[in-house]
Amino acid sequence: MIDSARLQRLRADEEDRFIELHPRSGTLARRAGGPLLAGVPMPWMTRWPGAFPLFVDRAEGARLTDVDGIEYVDLCLGDTGAMAGHALPQVTAVVAARMAKGATAMLPSEDAVWVGDELTRRFGLPSWQLAMSATDANRFVLRFARHLTGRPRVAVMDWCYHGTVDETLAVLDASGRVVPRPGALGPQVDVALTTAVVPFNDVDALDRRLAEGDVACLLLEPALTNIGIVLPDDGYLAAVREVTRRHDVLLVVDETHTMCAGPGGCTAAWDLEPDLLVVGKAIGGGIPCAAYGMTAEVAARLSGPMLGHEIDVAGVGGTLTGSALATAAIRATLSTCLREDDFAVAVPLAERFAAGVADAIAAHGLPWHVQRLGCRAEYWFCPPPRDGAAAAAAVDEDLEGFLHLWCLNRGVLLTPFHNMALFSPQHTEADVDRHTAVFSEALDALLT
Ligand code: PMP
Repeated sequence: MIDSARLQRLRADEEDRFIELHPRSGTLARRAGGPLLAGVPMPWMTRWPGAFPLFVDRAEGARLTDVDGIEYVDLCLGDTGAMAGHALPQVTAVVAARMAKGATAMLPSEDAVWVGDELTRRFGLPSWQLAMSATDANRFVLRFARHLTGRPRVAVMDWCYHGTVDETLAVLDASGRVVPRPGALGPQVDVALTTAVVPFNDVDALDRRLAEGDVACLLLEPALTNIGIVLPDDGYLAAVREVTRRHDVLLVVDETHTMCAGPGGCTAAWDLEPDLLVVGKAIGGGIPCAAYGMTAEVAARLSGPMLGHEIDVAGVGGTLTGSALATAAIRATLSTCLREDDFAVAVPLAERFAAGVADAIAAHGLPWHVQRLGCRAEYWFCPPPRDGAAAAAAVDEDLEGFLHLWCLNRGVLLTPFHNMALFSPQHTEADVDRHTAVFSEALDALLT
């Protein structure tokens, strides 16, 4: 329904407008192109729309201001790292105070006890460890799972994302073979040797694959969020639990993004019963940290190895991990943010976003769709897919790039991957309505 010549023309106009609006970012981008590979400190930053990334000056609450002085409604929130909102004063004060008292000593601080108790209260699992990032936590959990079961492979969902974890950068090809995910650089070994891949929402495929007896654990997001939001069918997650138990496969739930469903993620909201759980990004209010929890049974089986003399070379942990700074940041964040009361503000904003976008789509007669999980929402250029491969096939880079750039040029930042918007209690209804208006104008421009 969208004329591609019109799309290209509009996109070219937006590219020009972007360059005009952001002279200072442009200058910094040119300078950064010297010392920084690809002109950025981290490769994903090249994924933002526009000829160069915006250079950020500051971000507070739900607003971000770039070095050209333009303020945006931030619906990206650091791709979930700032899910509670940017620079919250109560978190900033605690982090600054802890910094002044020493950030890292490779010893526990008193906050660690509070953090362990709080994670147990939220997610229901009794035993916890910290990590620097969700990637790290996933890596450690996979290692533990292989250690405990003596099995070589881990199972993941087709088109999942769990961080830069080698084993998880795998997909199924058209003939059902496990192959490196398109774009994955330099796989250490053939991923077919490390990984079993199954489609989301397909219990029989999971059952058949786990029956082969070589899988240590299944690592999954309870709803896929990294190829757009793909929600589980009714009864799917209960069936996953039954199948994993029957095959003695540990179930690891990665709540890093799905924490958008509530204070204890989907695990608490949907009564899931994982053996291990990973949560990251948002829990430290912006300070790098993550956590992984486990049942009493898993903890009992791991307690021996955890106290071994060689634990420092076991392949889990890291010098800055569980630092006094990170634990203080988690305590400050989880004691004042991402609580029931906070979701009671953020979720209705995501509902308002979904309703506004759905209305605009309907008004323009498009066969598009909006999906929502808690305070995260996402629109699709098709009816909602049921698995990752269908979701990947629905991606339209040109259209997506145009819509993101159109919104950015009008003061609204979407996450640069797919069409994801995340809401915090710092957002307002006016912020939501601003996006709806801008989105609707984009559809007018595309279709009239
Ligand atoms: N798990 C999930 C579900 C994620 O979405 C991500 C990052 N997008 C990660 C793990 C990895 O997080 P990080 O990049 O902070 O290590």
